[in-house]
Amino acid sequence: MNQDHVVLNRTNQKMPLIGYGCWKVDKDQCADTIYNAIKVGYRLIDSAAVYANEVEVGQGIERAIKEGIVKREDLFVVTKLWNTCHHKDNVRPALQKSLKDLNLSYIDLYLIHFPIPLAYADIQKHALDWFEPGTQNMKIERSPLQETWREMERAVDDKLVRNIGVSNCNVQTILDMLTYAKYKPATLQIEHHPYLQQNRLIKWVKSQGIHITAYSSFGPISYLEMSEQAKNTKPLLDHDVIKSIASKHGKTTGQVLLRWAVQRDVAVIPKSMNMDRMKSNLDVFSWSLDDDDLAKIADMDIGLRFNDTVAYGLPIPLFD
Ligand code: NAD
Repeated sequence: MNQDHVVLNRTNQKMPLIGYGCWKVDKDQCADTIYNAIKVGYRLIDSAAVYANEVEVGQGIERAIKEGIVKREDLFVVTKLWNTCHHKDNVRPALQKSLKDLNLSYIDLYLIHFPIPLAYADIQKHALDWFEPGTQNMKIERSPLQETWREMERAVDDKLVRNIGVSNCNVQTILDMLTYAKYKPATLQIEHHPYLQQNRLIKWVKSQGIHITAYSSFGPISYLEMSEQAKNTKPLLDHDVIKSIASKHGKTTGQVLLRWAVQRDVAVIPKSMNMDRMKSNLDVFSWSLDDDDLAKIADMDIGLRFNDTVAYGLPIPLFD
């Protein structure tokens, strides 16, 4: 399986199996980083309103287009609706802000970031957050997901977004969505790496025609400053099993982790600000893992999640 894209339901649009993730891409280097990512070959950019760098992501895209490296239609731009904008009256203004910040006329894939409706805070005045402005209170808002989804669908009808999807949802949430969706989700974005393989979730979601995108493919590394558990877990990039598979194929451990996902038909969106790593992370289609490698990685599944709302001190065990 060396196909480099998947075909999305409803639109039949091709979504690249590898993209560039924008979380924690420093604002001051972000425009150059996104420009470089496109220059070295990334065609999918995974952004989000809450990453607070959409303006700079847009600048990087604009420069790449202006210099003729790509056309807008060659790119697949993803961004996400933040939790404080789930109310049916707030979805469209949030989307319009993302479009304005990214300086784009449409988004290829718009995701509901988390199935957690939080009290609205003025997006022009306040940074997007888990808490009400100036407090440590997380206030749930009575916004049914169904109403949020209707607005996502309306954005499709109004041609502001081409595909819509969800992130951090489980089977129960998606099962419910399928009972009312006019347009079913195109993709589900979830944490996915050898410590958290989520085989049953992936199998069922795919059986519904919904593609999976993995985030945090390298496991604990991006959670080191936020989670004790991440600090106390053996890094995947330095794990003996992954290292031995990497040396067998003459590849890096990062490439093994990414190849493992795309070989499962799961898209990946690694983040690196280092040009050499950015390039090497793209090399996942010219080679493959064998059955022995796959069996060894399968044995590493311990159901260990790092993007855990409880580990951040939030009063909601979302994944329970
Ligand atoms: P990641 O797994 O891509 O890891 C990033 C870290 O790995 C960085 O510290 C980077 O320096 C390092 N790295 C990258 N390539 C490397 C290589 N080849 N060798 C060694 N180190 C390397 O982590 P992530 O940022 O958590 O996830 C990727 C993207 O997924 C994010 O940028 C974001 O777009 C998305 N994401 C989405 C959600 C969600 O809730 N939907 C949550 C987390 C991340």
